Amino acid sequence: MSEDEVVLDTGAHRAYLMCHKRLWLEAHRPELVAPTDYSARSFAGRDDVVERVRKACSFWRAVVPTVLPFDERKIATAGAMSALDSGKIGAVYDAVFEEDGIRVRVDVLTAVPGGYEMTFIKSSTKYKPKSHLAPIGFVCHFLIEIKGLRIQRVTLAHVNRDYVVGGDAKFVKRVDITNDVIDVAFYVPHEIKGMRGIIGRDDFPNVSVGKQCKSSQFVCPLYDHCWSDIDGMTIYDIPNLRSKRLLGLESHDILMLEDVPLDALTAKQGAFVRWILGEEININVHAIETAMADIQYPIYFLDFETIDHAVPAWDGVKPHQAVPFQYSVHALHEDGRLTHHAYLHRDGTDPRPALSAWLVNYIGGDGTVVAYNIGFERGVLLGLAEHVPEIGYELRSIAARLWDQLLIFQKHYRDHRFGRSNGLKSVLPVVCPHLSYDDLAVKDGLAAQIAFEKMIASDNADEKADIAFALLAYCDLDTLAMVEIHKVLIAL
Ligand code: SF4
Repeated sequence: MSEDEVVLDTGAHRAYLMCHKRLWLEAHRPELVAPTDYSARSFAGRDDVVERVRKACSFWRAVVPTVLPFDERKIATAGAMSALDSGKIGAVYDAVFEEDGIRVRVDVLTAVPGGYEMTFIKSSTKYKPKSHLAPIGFVCHFLIEIKGLRIQRVTLAHVNRDYVVGGDAKFVKRVDITNDVIDVAFYVPHEIKGMRGIIGRDDFPNVSVGKQCKSSQFVCPLYDHCWSDIDGMTIYDIPNLRSKRLLGLESHDILMLEDVPLDALTAKQGAFVRWILGEEININVHAIETAMADIQYPIYFLDFETIDHAVPAWDGVKPHQAVPFQYSVHALHEDGRLTHHAYLHRDGTDPRPALSAWLVNYIGGDGTVVAYNIGFERGVLLGLAEHVPEIGYELRSIAARLWDQLLIFQKHYRDHRFGRSNGLKSVLPVVCPHLSYDDLAVKDGLAAQIAFEKMIASDNADEKADIAFALLAYCDLDTLAMVEIHKVLIAL
């Protein structure tokens, strides 16, 4: 594919700024690009916000429907722009422009004295210049310099973090970012030249894998491809490795943990590397026994799954607030019996009242409630107590009896095979190798959120039942895993 055949858009621009190899591979080897759950869910969240913003701004009339193919949207945009210029309509939604092999899209274009205002809609609860500005600068440069549009103002519309369903605060906040955008748009001609140069190459640029490939918020869609030959832990697994030390190692082409000179690290990081490479296992049985002496029967092992909507759906909920829709509880009784109870909300109504009622009914007023990383479960329980005050006392009582299994693996039980994480999914395969998430259709919390939304939206009974089964299996395994780990710890 030549540079002439590739359309440059904000996605290509983002790829260019992140990694030149990604830009080339996405243009020439699209079959290697893997969509991630994260991107699927964040796009869905943004679409909901866009819809909500447009509803809130009913004075904006006129639409270029998003469902149209790009070529038709281009034609529709041209027609809508004429109507906008003549004052027949107040705004153009999803305006698409293309020229010179560049394509851009604007969420909302409105006419203002002397030209136009562009509005970009984001699902975040604040303006984030670092991630928001570059693509908007790209669009701005194209519309002003190539299309000749008189852009007078650029606005970012984002979700108001103080908004609550049923409250007085507005859902959207608007920020004038015109000056910031002009600053970054200055670099865009140079960047477009760079993008064309990379795409025109016969082979991909030689870029080493690095920090840019993965973060807690993002995984490069080419991650599996680029990292397929890397076996073992790397410098990116060293905890809290700050830029200066990281750059030092990268500049010496050091990638694998075994090649790291320990004098390039802090004492703590060096100990981590020695511990991993030395294949150390460190179990403080006495400390574990002491910590577990606090646990009282019946022992409830509790796990919630939550959903956070950019546009909250239920009363009293804020944007992006985690609302539980499912839980699993295993109960281990003093006589050795293991019982199980689970709840999964199955429709689009507020899950909290029914979920809370079932939970307090199953977990009585006695016994310890074990969770893995109790900060999350405690927050969910206290949120439920506020929302369902008639059983608030019982919910707070459950929160007060939480006991954190994670602390054992943070303080008293370390095994090099956990790697840098002591999360349940790192610990389980080592401590209880007979249990695994591998065969499950839903394997993590993000996948559970996506599955829940799909189940709610589906009107196919078989599909709903299949998704419900997968969700129940996933959450059940989370609590069964804690039970089995508990048994291992008791037997030490
Ligand atoms: S995985 Fe890393 S090296 Fe590969 S394309 Fe993505 S960012 Fe670039």
